[in-house]
Amino acid sequence: MNKKLSLQEWLGEAEQSRISFADFCISQQSNFLEKSRQDIITDMLAILDVMEQSVMTGLSGVKSRGGLVGGDALRLQAYSSDQAQRSVIGPTVNRAITMALAVGEANAAMGKIVAAPTAGSSGVLPAVLFSLGEAWNIERVELAKALIVAGAIGMVIASRASLSGAAGGCQAECGSAAAMAAGAAVVLHGGTPGQVGNAVAITLKNMLGLVCDPVAGLVEVPCVKRNAGAAAQAMVAAEMALAGITSVIPVDEVIDAMAAVGSSMSCTLRETSQGGLAVTPTALAWTQKIFKD
Ligand code: SF4
Repeated sequence: MNKKLSLQEWLGEAEQSRISFADFCISQQSNFLEKSRQDIITDMLAILDVMEQSVMTGLSGVKSRGGLVGGDALRLQAYSSDQAQRSVIGPTVNRAITMALAVGEANAAMGKIVAAPTAGSSGVLPAVLFSLGEAWNIERVELAKALIVAGAIGMVIASRASLSGAAGGCQAECGSAAAMAAGAAVVLHGGTPGQVGNAVAITLKNMLGLVCDPVAGLVEVPCVKRNAGAAAQAMVAAEMALAGITSVIPVDEVIDAMAAVGSSMSCTLRETSQGGLAVTPTALAWTQKIFKD
């Protein structure tokens, strides 16, 4: 069996070498893929372009194949630009959840997205990266570096737990995406490796036990709105970590707990659409209608 990766080890190595966690992850990827640092960043810049396109697709007002979702990203955008409305969460988080909905809607309409880490959770990372990028005028290359950090966090979660809703519930999909985004957000704001670890741990703890229960087996409900919730959760955890709040449970142990919770989850709550929201009377009526149509 392959040795489990350890985020704590990597964060510790970065701290010992007195380099940022982004630089640590870029060097690691450069060695592993036998590519130059510049090539790794160039690859990430190309991925950011696709992510940005997926936001635009969603904001063009697409409708999903099953007909359950579409238009909510535009609705939220209109709400935030209406001066008469008093935002509950402020412009940056509002923009993040708008973009998360947009990418989720693009995915549900079969548009091109970046699975980060999965198609179902593809709205979270673009939402956090681009909303912070816009709010703080962060250079594109810094977003690319943060994306490499997010990838490294995803690799550790995949190695110790899972990134799949079928294996570990939605905590493994939207939870992992949020954890990746939280670490990336800390890096974008100049946080330490230790703060990256705390942001990841806090995010996963707050999303532990989230089940996978897609209505009619489609990645529409609850998936699209869960992307918005996960993006907000990532920002909440990053804010706490940057303020110096720590997780009592170390990050690797949190990831291991997520793996254990996923394994003990009933299979009705792991992408089979046999439990949770998917078997509510309204969901069953929609399922019948969608398959009849
Ligand atoms: S509910 Fe299931 S299918 Fe939907 S995003 Fe979560 S893990 Fe993916």
